[in-house]
Parts: sequence; structure tokens; C-alpha cells
Amino acid sequence: MRLLAWYDHNKRSLPWRVDQATSRDPWRTWVSEVMLQQTLIPVVIPAFNRFIAKFPDVFALARATEDDLRPVVKGLGYYRRFGMLHRAARIIAEISSDGNPIWPRTQEGWKALPGIGEYTSAAISSIAFDVPVPVIDGNVERVLCRLEDIRQPPNLPELKPVYRELATRMMANPAARARPGDFNQAMMELGQRVCTPSNPDCGQCPLSRQCKARKARTQHLAPAPKIRPHYEDVRLRLIVGIRVQQPGNHQVALFRRDEKQKFLKGTRGFWYGFEDPEGPPLSSSFVGSFKHSITKHKITADVHLMEVPPAKMAGTTCPLATVTKQIPDWIPAGDVENELISSLDSKAWRLILRRHQA
Ligand code: SF4
Repeated sequence: MRLLAWYDHNKRSLPWRVDQATSRDPWRTWVSEVMLQQTLIPVVIPAFNRFIAKFPDVFALARATEDDLRPVVKGLGYYRRFGMLHRAARIIAEISSDGNPIWPRTQEGWKALPGIGEYTSAAISSIAFDVPVPVIDGNVERVLCRLEDIRQPPNLPELKPVYRELATRMMANPAARARPGDFNQAMMELGQRVCTPSNPDCGQCPLSRQCKARKARTQHLAPAPKIRPHYEDVRLRLIVGIRVQQPGNHQVALFRRDEKQKFLKGTRGFWYGFEDPEGPPLSSSFVGSFKHSITKHKITADVHLMEVPPAKMAGTTCPLATVTKQIPDWIPAGDVENELISSLDSKAWRLILRRHQA
């Protein structure tokens, strides 16, 4: 198969596929796929190396605490995926014996683990276990649209089954079926490096003979531009609670966010609520606002500083707890920067520091 021959000669050297053994190692494949979900390859490479050095196998992550994990993935965004990876690693460790991980062998088995959906389960099971299931990301969608000269927006929901059928048909080729993980990686890499959104390098493409868009010279029309997602405007109120234990010893309130929260589930940070113009006034001072985006939400965050008197430090008498209905963890002010994992919280903290220093 020309595509696999192209891949064998041109594939990028990446730390999760250094050689034959590492490129099929379930742990390295899993970690890399989780990191690649929302982050570009050049950012993932050093993060992956840092992660594997700290957690060389699934048991190392299963034994780790959240405090061990946080600094290793700081700055990558979408922290929830790593919380899920942590939970899933504990499940694998629990069902495994003698230090030998018992991995799921099917796509459905991987999908049953926390945080693993259609795409990631297909990638891991095909790459590490030769399960013949196609992986379809944005790059593969573009390649398939051009092969079939589909001139519609590639993210139309009704195209999903079309992509699946086309990719499954390609994977039915005996050479692809013998190497489903390589076939999937070849398709993705072809989309990244050859069949690029503008100016595809058709002269170098191993699929050029079967490409309908190339024949019709319609590469620029297939696919049509994507349908832009509708962004929702949201206004948040962030409260940074601070108390002075002794002069010079400030502590800051951080809250653990659960799965019911709309944003930043599973992270620890400042309390936030949705702005309610009708709500009661806060006994806090307004520090400033900043803009931030999370998935399809454009957020305006208003940051308030609430000083908690030492006499009202704990329990429901704390004015902060009255608003938040939660008891926070009080962190020394000097440690806050390291504790924050989301960029929303980091932006709020930097705003507080700037105003404080001004
Ligand atoms: S021939 Fe050109 S347009 Fe067709 S798949 Fe290859 S790179 Fe893309």
C-alpha cells in the first residue's frame, strides 16, 4: 500500500514512537493521545517527556497524588483530561496483578475507562493492539473529503458516518488491516504534512492516483470552510478570598471544583459564580476584569478580593463561606501560583498581584 510505504519513509520521529517497542507501548500511546487531544505536537513533546520521566508506567501514576500530578501537566490546559487519566490509571492498577498491567484489548474496553471517548479509544486500540478501527480526526476528515471531492463543511454531523464508511473501506485493504495503527497514523500525518488546508502538496501524495479532488482540480473547494461554532458570552464573578494570619503571613482561599461545575471541573482554584445583577452586594472589593475563552464560551471574568478577618476564619461565620457555601483550603500566598492549574485562575491571580504591587 503506497500510503504505508510513504509513512514508513516519512513519519516524524516522536518520543512516544521512538522504536518498534515504544510505538506500540499502551502506556506511552495512551499518555500521548490524551495530551494530543487539545494540544499541538511541539508543546506535547516536552510535556510528554516530563510526564513519562515522572510516571514511567501506569502504576506510578496510580500511586501518585493530585499534588504530584499537577506540576507535571501545568500549562497544558484542559486539566480535566489528566484527572480522568489519573482515575483510569487507578482502575487499571486495581484490576492488574503482579505489577503487570491488564489492558483492555478492544475499543469498547478502552471506552469504558474515564475520559476515553470514540477517538482516543480507536487510536489506542489500533496503535497498541492492532484493532482494525479507523481514527478520524480533523486531518483525516480533510483527506477523505478531498479523496471523494466532498465540497461540504467537514464538521457537518451528517458527514460522520460517511467518513467512517470511507475509512473503514480503506482499512479493508489487506496491508492496512495488517497494520491498522500505522494506517491511522499515516492518514493523520498525511493530513498534517501533505494534504494541508491550503496548498496541498499533491505531487508528494501517496494517494494522488485515487484522489477525486486532484483529478477535478478542486482541492481548494473540498472541503468547504468549516461551520464556525456559536460562542456563548458568559460573565463570571471570581472571588479571591484572603486572610492575614499574622502580619506578613497571608493565606488565600482555593476551592475544589466538582463534576457539577460548568467550567474547570476537577481543578482547584478561586470560587466562581455567574454574575447576577439582581444578587445581593458582595462585601468585597472589585479588582478588575479580563477576557478568557473556554471551549465555546467567551468569558468576561470580574475579579473581587474579599478580605476575611482572622476572627471569622472558618465555618459558616466566614463571609466567604456565606457566599460560596463551601469551606476552602487556605494556601500560603507565596504558594498560590504553583497550586493553580488553569489559566483562568492564573490570570485572576496575576491581576490581583499587579494591583497589589501598583
Ligand atoms: S492528492 Fe492532493 S488533495 Fe488529494 S489527498 Fe493527496 S494531497 Fe490531498
